[in-house]
Amino acid sequence: MRWFPIPRHPAKLETMPDDPTKLDEWRLIAKVSHDLRTPLNGVLGLSELMLDSELSSEQRRSMELIQISAESLLTITSDLLDFSRLRGERVELDNIAFDLIGLIDSTARLLAVRAFERGIEISYDVAEDVPRTVRGDPGRLRQILTNLIGNAVKFTHEGGVSVTVVLDSMRPAGAQLRFVVRDTGIGIPADKLDAIFDEYAQVDASTSRKYGGSGLGLSISRRLARRMGGDVEVTSQLGKGSEFTFTAILEPADEKAAAAERAQVTLSGARALVLDDNPSIRELVQQTLEAAGLAVDGVEGVDDGIEALQKAADQGEPYRLLIMDAWISRRDGYEIARTVRDDPVFADTRIMMLTSAGRRGDGRRCRDVGIQAYLTKPVSGDELLDAVAVMLGAVVRPTATLVTRHVLEESRRRLCILIAEDNVVNQQVATAVLRRRGHTVDIVDTGAAAVEAIAQTDYDVVLMDIEMPEMDGLEATAAIRQRPDAAQLPIVALTAHAIGGEQERYRAAGMDDCLTKPFRPQELIQLVEHLGGATPGARTADQPPRPPPTPVNLTEFRRAMREAGMEETVETILGVFLEDATERLTALESAVQAGDADGIRMAAHAFRSAAATVRATNLAELLHQVEIAGQANDLGRAADLLQQVREEKAAVVDFLNQTTVY
Ligand code: ADP
Repeated sequence: MRWFPIPRHPAKLETMPDDPTKLDEWRLIAKVSHDLRTPLNGVLGLSELMLDSELSSEQRRSMELIQISAESLLTITSDLLDFSRLRGERVELDNIAFDLIGLIDSTARLLAVRAFERGIEISYDVAEDVPRTVRGDPGRLRQILTNLIGNAVKFTHEGGVSVTVVLDSMRPAGAQLRFVVRDTGIGIPADKLDAIFDEYAQVDASTSRKYGGSGLGLSISRRLARRMGGDVEVTSQLGKGSEFTFTAILEPADEKAAAAERAQVTLSGARALVLDDNPSIRELVQQTLEAAGLAVDGVEGVDDGIEALQKAADQGEPYRLLIMDAWISRRDGYEIARTVRDDPVFADTRIMMLTSAGRRGDGRRCRDVGIQAYLTKPVSGDELLDAVAVMLGAVVRPTATLVTRHVLEESRRRLCILIAEDNVVNQQVATAVLRRRGHTVDIVDTGAAAVEAIAQTDYDVVLMDIEMPEMDGLEATAAIRQRPDAAQLPIVALTAHAIGGEQERYRAAGMDDCLTKPFRPQELIQLVEHLGGATPGARTADQPPRPPPTPVNLTEFRRAMREAGMEETVETILGVFLEDATERLTALESAVQAGDADGIRMAAHAFRSAAATVRATNLAELLHQVEIAGQANDLGRAADLLQQVREEKAAVVDFLNQTTVY
């Protein structure tokens, strides 16, 4: 195997700035960004693949350092290009309707993970009169907020970060909104308050060493805010904290029109009821399904649930789907499901059970009761939607079997994929990622070879590098589209150009979508499987299934720690967790034995926080159930769950002992 990239052609740029003085910088930066992205794709992709495999702790540490370095290189590359585009006035802002409050919420939540691990909190408050739906560029708005909130978290060691959003005034162009991000962090010296908005400016030379970053974020944010008719300003007190104010003018949008823009057709309109006494899970399921276009109601109590089902049926609009917890307000979900199933009025309502811990016999119980699907928590949004699509017949399955995580995994259609790419490293990355999902992959390294391969084999998806020797990706696509049997064949452009306008060019050339290098394995999988229609159906190739999820999601934990700038403490925290785990379990066992409901709640809570921090997800979820049982004074349930907690804790400890050395 050769591990060096084949030399590539220089970047071809279709669009150049009108102002010749900007031409050189723009050309140079776009080319540097392009040429950096291609090898970075190899480094990031391969390191992610290796981190997923078995490694000694020393190898793992080295791989992680490689990944961190590559990621920071990528950030700098993106910032640089972004900055150059803004300076050359080359950024086109989108004008689409979006849910402003949803955007603020999701941005704050994402950064809250980082904040939580640093022991600080993020809160946000949106004034009543701020329009919920606005028109503008949600991606760029999120970029500014992420930069400001991200900085606030980065430079705060104690206290918290608050975000407030108020409506300043209504103007002819729209609503002038004021976003204020306050922190209780290190503050900024008065004489540096202006300079930090300059490109590459940081308060002092130690900032980059200590906190990372390139000093481009604020200058990009300010330029973007100005494009939105506003600005970014700052006041600060050294040692006390800073306050960044960002203003923008956004046109309020019609809620219904926005919903229509977002609506997805496949599942849209179907009514679903979510019955769960845990508000966070209920809301999560509700939001996921609503985003897919379902009409969803959520209820907390069993009686309310049955009443809602009855009412909907009476009105002639029965729920097509009931998603419920296996344990609701101290009642057995299976019993409730049986009641629903036994009533002919609800014959058309399909039932999905969410269980906290997959127990042996769950499948049989579901079948006995007449439940069509069960999923074990934590459930991802994709998994939920896949299962719902299968249940509601948006995806046709050959036989009416019980839908479980395993069935979803097994029934995902295996695709036949052609990769046309001349860079050996990138070929390896894409191939390894796709083969691990069970897909069949063929590789060619010129456009002409791609055209030939398509004449021979019936592919589901083609990944097409744009710049290849002999015949480039665009020419090859044109040739492929000449064939009547390949008119609908999904073709994805692979490009290292991160500049706008390129995607349109590829679409115009007949390509369906575009992946910008470096892409994440997950991005590649999602796009390919979406375009190739790898939804549940027949299995066409016999490939080994993916390994089961591990008791601790170490990759996720490491990533979160890295984002929090605490990567050096990963091993220490895991060590502390291991040392404490037995003691925490003993505390819980004693409380259960003593029948002390409050003690159970507290012990479970403390253990859960520790488990959640290291991403021992199943253990954390089980402990959450124990905590709920403690709160509800349900000693029987707590005692029942204890054995599962013991087993999961043992699995976590074994796993950590095998994968890390202290
Ligand atoms: P970066 O964070 O990548 O260095 P920015 O342009 O976002 O670049 O910020 C420039 C500099 O401004 C930072 O390096 C830091 O010195 C200072 N700064 C920004 N936000 C804050 C804040 N909330 N508290 C203290 N210093 C800040």
